[in-house]
Amino acid sequence: MLGPVILAASRSDRLRRVISAAPVTKPVVNRFIPGESVDQIVPIIVDATSRGLELTMDVVGEDITTPGQAAAARDAYLELIEHLKALDLGTRAEMSVKLSMFGQALPSPATTLNGEASGPAAAFQGGHELALANVRPVVEAAAAIGTTVTLDAEDHTTLDSMFAIHEELRKDFPQTGCVIQAYLFRTEDDARRLAAAGSRVRVVKGAYKEPASVAYQEKAEIDKAYIRVLRILMEGDGYPMVGSHDPRIVEIAQELARRAGRKPGDFEFQMLYGIRSEEHVRLAREGHRMRVYTAYGTDWYGYFMRRLAEKPANLLFFLRSVLTKN
Ligand SMILES: Cc1cc2nc3c(=O)[nH]c(=O)nc-3n(C[C@H](O)[C@H](O)[C@H](O)COP(=O)(O)OP(=O)(O)OC[C@H]3O[C@@H](n4cnc5c(N)ncnc54)[C@H](O)[C@@H]3O)c2cc1C
Repeated sequence: MLGPVILAASRSDRLRRVISAAPVTKPVVNRFIPGESVDQIVPIIVDATSRGLELTMDVVGEDITTPGQAAAARDAYLELIEHLKALDLGTRAEMSVKLSMFGQALPSPATTLNGEASGPAAAFQGGHELALANVRPVVEAAAAIGTTVTLDAEDHTTLDSMFAIHEELRKDFPQTGCVIQAYLFRTEDDARRLAAAGSRVRVVKGAYKEPASVAYQEKAEIDKAYIRVLRILMEGDGYPMVGSHDPRIVEIAQELARRAGRKPGDFEFQMLYGIRSEEHVRLAREGHRMRVYTAYGTDWYGYFMRRLAEKPANLLFFLRSVLTKN
């Protein structure tokens, strides 16, 4: 019951200001977002890769309001890629990006006076073309150092635009990945379309507050849908990325992979930094590719609130630390 309330709170500017400014918030935030700058995150990357883990790096900050902020987001990723180049990690460190941060939700520059879009962006609302223009140099720079980019999935209204950008990028950079969310009714169809040779697809349960008209609401239904989607990906020709901390899903993924004739390395597990960290190491030791989604940056509010919403115990932990420090 608490999850949807926290997700609704994640959209509140007032709460954002209060929570972001409270000094006691910081240690709790650090559990999930271990740095604010690229200099703070580089030692984390070095440490994780030296322990056999792989990474996907997320610069947090999806709630942008101007094209200048979208360009700054692009530049933050380009700065990260410069640092990764020096580390020479190849695909062991890739990037995850949210297109909203690249301008996807901004008003389209192609919008006419009567409010209608024109030109190639006409099929999509807002800053579809702007997001594509900003993300392309990041994908190019990643490819130049031998790594890849995965497009995160945000709320359901953004997905047609995300998949269109994914398809466009894949024409030049076929290794560009994308994310599908098992809680959405549409996702089995998306999985069938994406389970093709050369395609990299992360499947997750889904972290946004979605209406019952588009998404399963009950955990049991979402878990069943996840397994159906995962089976499609494992039986297909693409490269599945299993994004879940759920021990049952991890077990079932191994079984589905075995039945589909996939060896460790023909798919990978992905988990979030700060969640079930011993499991990251255990799976890597078993010979699996284990990629840790590692977020950093100053604008961590939305990312942090989604982590609280996923597990109400995190909220209690957070509240306890606030109360005991006052
Ligand atoms: C690598 C990765 C990338 C992701 N990318 C996206 C994306 O692009 N779009 C999107 O909508 N969602 C994304 N998510 C989030 C995802 O949708 C889920 O909200 C999240 O993974 C929780 O679901 P679960 O599969 O871990 O299972 P759950 O059933 O929620 O959790 C299983 C167990 O994992 C542990 N756990 C789960 N979440 C937490 C937490 N926050 N804190 C502490 N313990 C926890 C608990 O022990 C819990 O019992 C991503 C998740 C991962 C792992």
